[in-house]
Amino acid sequence: MPTYHLETFGCQMNAHDSEGIAGVLYGLGLRPVGTPEEADVLVLNTCSVRDKPQRKVFSRLGHYARLKSTPRRRLIVIAGCMAQLIPDEVRKRAPEVDLIIGPGAYGELEGAVRELLEGRSGPQTILTRCAPDAQSIPYRRETPFRAWVDVMYGCDNHCAYCVVPRARGREVSRRPEAIVAEVEGLVAEGVVEITLLGQNVNSYGHGIEPPVDFADLLGRLEAVAGLRRVRFTTSHPKDVSPKLMRAMAELPTVCEHLHLPVQAGSDRVLERMGRGHSAEQYLTLVQAAREAVPGLSLTTDVMVGFPGETREDFDSTLALFEIVRFDQAFMFRYNDRPGTRADEMADKLSEEEKQARFLELARLQNSIAREINEGRVGEEFEVLVEGRDAKDPKKARGRTRQNKLMIFPAEEDLSGRFVQAKAVEARLWGWLGQRHGNENGKL
Ligand code: SAM
Ligand code: SF4
Repeated sequence: MPTYHLETFGCQMNAHDSEGIAGVLYGLGLRPVGTPEEADVLVLNTCSVRDKPQRKVFSRLGHYARLKSTPRRRLIVIAGCMAQLIPDEVRKRAPEVDLIIGPGAYGELEGAVRELLEGRSGPQTILTRCAPDAQSIPYRRETPFRAWVDVMYGCDNHCAYCVVPRARGREVSRRPEAIVAEVEGLVAEGVVEITLLGQNVNSYGHGIEPPVDFADLLGRLEAVAGLRRVRFTTSHPKDVSPKLMRAMAELPTVCEHLHLPVQAGSDRVLERMGRGHSAEQYLTLVQAAREAVPGLSLTTDVMVGFPGETREDFDSTLALFEIVRFDQAFMFRYNDRPGTRADEMADKLSEEEKQARFLELARLQNSIAREINEGRVGEEFEVLVEGRDAKDPKKARGRTRQNKLMIFPAEEDLSGRFVQAKAVEARLWGWLGQRHGNENGKL
């Protein structure tokens, strides 16, 4: 039986797209294998947001090209944002690639791979900017109890540093009925937790008639019997509405977790980034969200070393972190991306300066995260068990509604089950815990 190997770089959207790519290949009769050496079809689902994943892809491509020179006939497929943004460079640096396919064209993946497998076509590049129709893609999901669901594609914002709008095209929202139907289908198959995906879920609904917004969508999903948890990412601060906060407060399925990228704490930098809000407005939002949703966990994305960022600007980011006290932060050193406005800006910081600021912010954030988790030791949490702890198979690992990890002793496989667990020892990522009524770790 022919085989495939798929490697994914980048964000959750790419990870979810890879489930679609895997589904298409599976439907063509290909089976997954653990290493590229064993595979007939080699797929890289790529990311362009920063330079590092892009460099890794080129290095993997070098390896794949060498594999192609062995007598076994193999296909190489490049999918994702690099395919869309730099197809010519990919082709030039790796002429061995058979198919370059952008994220808006996965509806054509099946036909293209079939033709290549049957030898009916030569190398192809398929780039489109239209949204793939999720309904026509047979996702092959990793876990039977959790699922990602796209609510929208693309992005209409123009943050000065970001390539996503060029790679993923204009924002297009899926119809609410299609999303609800997909979720109903997933729940019927045993899914209890969904994560709604979009670059800016708070602007969901543009262009849909009759009018619908993201809070309405959450309300409609609440009615799906058997669905226990709804998460969503990513929220843009400029589009978070009081209505969304009310929905988060009132709808029992919506988890007490908000991922709200701040990017910087200085108004000057936020302005140059084109984020559309000030630090003060961000703080007001955080306060309102915490008042609406008690116990809310708040996470963020932040970037250090944006062009022209002064020490004073960076101090504002540190100060904002001290005030907000995030549960977790995904931190990035600003990285020049070709074709973006920031790439053209003057006053670039040196790599050393960016690294020093990155470490300073990381030290602060780590101590805050640990303190927050220490402050909740002794509390009980509902945990959806994901499986065994990779380091200790006598322990289970799962997530609380706040999206914190809980690792606790468990003899039987509890994957996909909800348990109550008490936080016993704080870690950066969550807690070591004890299952309720199970102080000895025995069932
Ligand atoms: N749509 C999301 C939002 O607006 O928050 C973020 C999408 S982006 C894939 C994820 C994160 O990557 C961003 O929040 C930003 O912090 C980071 N990022 C994007 N472009 C970057 C760049 N040029 N250099 C460094 N980090 C970058
Ligand atoms: Fe990029 Fe900004 Fe769109 Fe997020 S909102 S994907 S950072 S342009």
